[in-house]
Amino acid sequence: MPTRRPARRLLPAARRLRAAVARMDLACAGTIYVRTRTCGKRTCRCHEDPSARHGPYAEWTRVREGRLVHSTLSAEQTERVTAAIGNYREIRRLLARWERETEEVILSGRRRKPRSVKQINSRK
Ligand SMILES: [Zn+2]
Repeated sequence: MPTRRPARRLLPAARRLRAAVARMDLACAGTIYVRTRTCGKRTCRCHEDPSARHGPYAEWTRVREGRLVHSTLSAEQTERVTAAIGNYREIRRLLARWERETEEVILSGRRRKPRSVKQINSRK
C-alpha cells in the first residue's frame, strides 16, 4: 500500500539517481567495437590475407542526430569511453526506476478520494 509522501522527501529512485550522477564525470551513449581493417593501398597484403588486416582498433559507434557516427579510439580514450558508457547505462537504468516509481505514486494517488476543486482553490 503506497504511503503519502511529504513533498520535500525524494523518491528512493530519485535519491539514488542524484547520488550516482554526483559521482560521475563523463557519460555517453554508444558501443565500442574492436575490429581490424583493410587499408587504402591496393598492393597491401591486408586485401588478400585476413590475418594481415590492420589493427585491431577500438571503434566507438553511436547515434548522433539520427546518424551513426564512428570514431577510432586510442587505448586511453577507450578506457574513458568504456567508463562513460557504463555511467550512461547506469543513469538510464536509474531513470527507468524513477519513471516507474513516479508512475506508481501518481496513479496510486488517483485511488485516494480526490479533493474537490473548491478545496484545492481554497489553499491559495
Ligand atoms: Zn593494408
